[in-house]
Order: sequence, then C-alpha cells, then structure tokens
Amino acid sequence: MKIYNFSAGPSILPQVTIEKTAEAVKNFNGIGLSILEISHRSKDFQAVMDETVALFKELLHIPEGYQVLFLGGGASMQFCMVPYNLMEKKAAYLNTGTWASKALKEAKLFGEVVEVASSKESLFNYIPKDYSIPADADYFHITTNNTIYGTEIRKDLDSPVPLIADMSSDIFSRPLDVSKYGLIYGGAQKNLAPAGVTFVIVKEELLGKVTRPIPTMLDYRTHIQNGSMFNTPPVLPIYSAMETLRWLKSLGGLAAMEKINIEKAGILYDAIDSSKIFIGTAKEEDRSIMNVCFVMKDEYKELEPEFQKFASERGMSGIKGHRSIGGFRASIYNAMPKSGVQALVDCMKEFERSH
Ligand SMILES: *Cc1c(COP(=O)(O)O)cnc(C)c1O
Repeated sequence: MKIYNFSAGPSILPQVTIEKTAEAVKNFNGIGLSILEISHRSKDFQAVMDETVALFKELLHIPEGYQVLFLGGGASMQFCMVPYNLMEKKAAYLNTGTWASKALKEAKLFGEVVEVASSKESLFNYIPKDYSIPADADYFHITTNNTIYGTEIRKDLDSPVPLIADMSSDIFSRPLDVSKYGLIYGGAQKNLAPAGVTFVIVKEELLGKVTRPIPTMLDYRTHIQNGSMFNTPPVLPIYSAMETLRWLKSLGGLAAMEKINIEKAGILYDAIDSSKIFIGTAKEEDRSIMNVCFVMKDEYKELEPEFQKFASERGMSGIKGHRSIGGFRASIYNAMPKSGVQALVDCMKEFERSH
C-alpha cells in the first residue's frame, strides 16, 4: 500500500531529494567518500554551499544587499537572535499562534514588545487585519504560516518599519517580494530539507545598529563574514536543501509551485466544504495552502477516532491534528503530490458514505 505523509514537520520531501541524499551519504560526487565524513571546507562541499545560496537567490529573486545564511538552532533560536541583533528599544509583534507567541515571549527579554493584535481569543483561527504598527518600533515581526492552526498570510505586507518573517512552513510555496522584508527565517524541516538547518535571509544594512554586545555565535555578522562556515555547518541538511531547490527549479520555480499548491489545497478544501460530517477550522479568507485543519461537526464528533483509524489503514499518515485544536491536519507541503491529496479526499468520501 502506498503511504502518504501528511505530517506537519519533519515532513514529506521530494523523492529525488531523498534518493540523492542517500547516494551522497554512500558516495558523494563519486569521490569514494560519504558526505558525512568529508571536511566542510573541502572544495566539493563548498560547491554545495555555493549552489544552495545561489538557488535561494535565484528562486526567490533576492535583491542586492541581502545575505543568505545557514545556521543551527532551529527557527526557535531565531526567536532570540532577531531581537538580539535588531531591537534597540521596542519591537512590534503580530500574534497569530503558538510560534508567534513564542517569538514574542523571547523578544520581551530585550526590550518593550508591542503586541499589535492577536487572534488568541478565537483559538487563532484567523489573521488579524485591523491594527497599526508603531512607527518608532525597530521592526515588525510576523509568522506567515501558522502551522498548527492552518492560517496563512499569503501576500507581502506593507510595514513602515523593517518587516521580519518566520516562514518556516511556507517558504518556497509561492513567489515573494523579498525587498519588502528586512529578515526572513525558518527551520528547513517543513518544506526544504531534513531537520538541522535554519535559513536566514537578511538585509545587511539593518545590522550593527544595536548598542548591546552580541555573543559571537549569535551575531549575524559573524556568519556573513564567514560564509556560514564560522563553525561546522549542518552539511547533510544543506545538501538535501540544494537537491530540493534543484527540483523546484526543474518544476518551473515558485510561480509554477504556487499554482500547484493552490490547486491541491482547493481540492481538499472543496471536499471539506461539501462534506456533511467534516468542517474546516480556519476562517476561509485566511486558509493556509500548506496545512489544512479540519474537525468533525459537533453531531459527528465521536467519529473522530474511527476516521483516524480508517484513514491510517488506507495509508494516510500523520493527519492527527495538533493537540491544541484536535481533529485533523493534513500538511500538503510542496512535495505532496496531487495524487496524495486526491487519495485523502477519496478516503474522506468513502468514510462519509459508510456513515
Ligand atoms: C516548526 C516551526 C517552528 C519551530 O521550528 P524549529 O526549527 O523546530 O525551532 C517555528 N515557527 C514555525 C512557523 C514552525 O512551523
């Protein structure tokens, strides 16, 4: 039976990424050694680093003046690195979920934090739109895709102060106007590579303005000066990221990817909206095209464990919803084929017919 991986993260990767990574683990570039055992400063690995940076720049059309970094520590490390490097006195945060709340909490260690708006009162099922950003904030932080709640900001916002975005779970899902952002970061394990590497795209002119001393490893300038090789970078996930980006490029880049993603999400949301027993949890206008959250209507609620079992027996893996909202979550990242979404929809319809 074909197993479809709907897990929220670590999550599905393109088959070619997994195959090429396995090959590189056994015999990298035909040099007779594993990528796991060669120096990160060897010319073979340097070529991987260079190509990965180049593909980031090419696919995202990153303008001059920005640097692309590959760091450790996960997206969660960026929750403190961002304010450490960019907040002198005050920063603004939009609170759209668990990850946004965690980022906001860390920022409070460094100065005054203004929560411009929050959708916490309705279990983060929408993106607040009516708020103002203080003009004297050092930056404005958003989480573009709320992995747990299935909401997404799918356009590049205007901000009077530098816009900082956690894009862990929707980077490379659509074309971006990077020039609207001061810094974009994310963990790789949702849409790019195995866990272990964090990408940072930073506008260099924003750095070096805070007066506090910054520990060497937490200072973005250290990693810029050393081409992400101040210390040993996570070589294997960087290699996998390169293969994923080659795959994305071969598909036609981000405009082509976005078209496919919208189509896949449409198939699933249509099935939910036309169902007698399932209902979506996120407000329609803010629905994510990466994480689709749904539950059973109140009168069918007790069938949830049964559907969970029914779906997993048919090869649907990882559809259990996050504990904070329950129900189901189908993560349909870039690498999820349309056939996987169709298989899930067929499974939902079959279950509905038999109940
Ligand atoms: C998964 C996730 C994180 C946490 O990433 P780590 O790399 O595990 O620290 C942060 N933000 C968002 C939006 C996520 O989806």
